[in-house]
Amino acid sequence: MGFRMNPHITTLRCSKSGMEVPSNGFASPIGLCRCCPAPGKPVVVEYDLAKVAKIWLSNPASGSGIWRYGPFLPVWDVPEDYAFDVGGTPVVRHDRLGEGLGVEVYLKNEGVNPSGSFKDRGLSVGIALGAACGAKRFCLPTQGNAGVAACLFSSRLGLPGALVYMPDGFQGCIYHRSCEFFGGEVRFFGSNIAAAGSKMREDLQGPLACGEFVDISTFFEPGRLEGKKTMGHEILEAFSAKSLPDYILYPTGGGTGLVGIWKAFREFLGAGLLEPQHLSLPRMIAVQSKQCAPLVAAFEAGAEDVTPVQSRGTIADGLDVPGAIMGHAMLRVLRESRGFAVAVSEEEIRDGFAEFGKRGIAAGYESAATLAGLQDLCRSNRIHAGARVLLLNTGSHLIPLAKA
Ligand SMILES: [Zn+2]
Repeated sequence: MGFRMNPHITTLRCSKSGMEVPSNGFASPIGLCRCCPAPGKPVVVEYDLAKVAKIWLSNPASGSGIWRYGPFLPVWDVPEDYAFDVGGTPVVRHDRLGEGLGVEVYLKNEGVNPSGSFKDRGLSVGIALGAACGAKRFCLPTQGNAGVAACLFSSRLGLPGALVYMPDGFQGCIYHRSCEFFGGEVRFFGSNIAAAGSKMREDLQGPLACGEFVDISTFFEPGRLEGKKTMGHEILEAFSAKSLPDYILYPTGGGTGLVGIWKAFREFLGAGLLEPQHLSLPRMIAVQSKQCAPLVAAFEAGAEDVTPVQSRGTIADGLDVPGAIMGHAMLRVLRESRGFAVAVSEEEIRDGFAEFGKRGIAAGYESAATLAGLQDLCRSNRIHAGARVLLLNTGSHLIPLAKA
């Protein structure tokens, strides 16, 4: 494939214990840590930020899409037709959305990514990283866009189609059809993503253990986080001439983007690359559905980690994540950024989606949850009048419309 590892990676570290994780020269794919109780906790990549900053400053933005930020990514020498069309998404001010709320609202439109959602960022890097470490095929349980993105990028590398496990109820849905369209193989099991994931790990125990397959589930390998953090880089660039938004509202399921955006900000800070007008970082706000809000419960309880809940099901598939393996890091981001977590009702999500339609904004249910969250927070004065707020529009309106 000709990929090259970023030579300025210094450390792989367990996100929970802080212990160093051996890289073994990247001769085999990187999974969860071994220092925490099975199945382990997510591993994060650290770089020599001084060296990375030097490359960035000498040759800023040399690639296209997310590979503009190549010095901060784990894999280099990615071919143009693999992922140069991922990222580079616009941030647009929507005055009419802020009308009546007394705030300035921006949307980052991730629906323009190749498979129609922000999942393309993480999966393109995760799959490139796994392939660079010798993986032959990728698998994951999914009930949404992540599976589609995994199939798309496996196809682009000419690998055997990604093996995707979905809950039984998803047979024939848009995600199933899109995975097959992009060359994936789809299997069905159980009533939810956790059951589908358990079945996958049981079926593929051997190939996963020897590194032939990589489990590309949210946070089960470090590449998806690295890809998602490019949203943070792009936010810094979009606001280059002014201060950053006061708040970023992020629709939170697995939380890769929440942790990733903050990682990008912290790495730019650590590399001495933050512009003076950006030194005041946004407060990060996680928005969940009241039907499935484990992060909100943990945040309000002042907990160190997220305890899984029983989901009551939500129309926003991306928010239907009852247990988050990176919950400890999400809570850390909320605390560090002086942010918080809020939950909205299904009715509010539907109303938000309808309002997007009326305003001519192409966004899905997850993004509608952030609009609903913003409205609640403005009404209760938790977001002050005059604030500048960025909502993540994580995916196209076509997905919920095609699903219904
Ligand atoms: Zn660990």
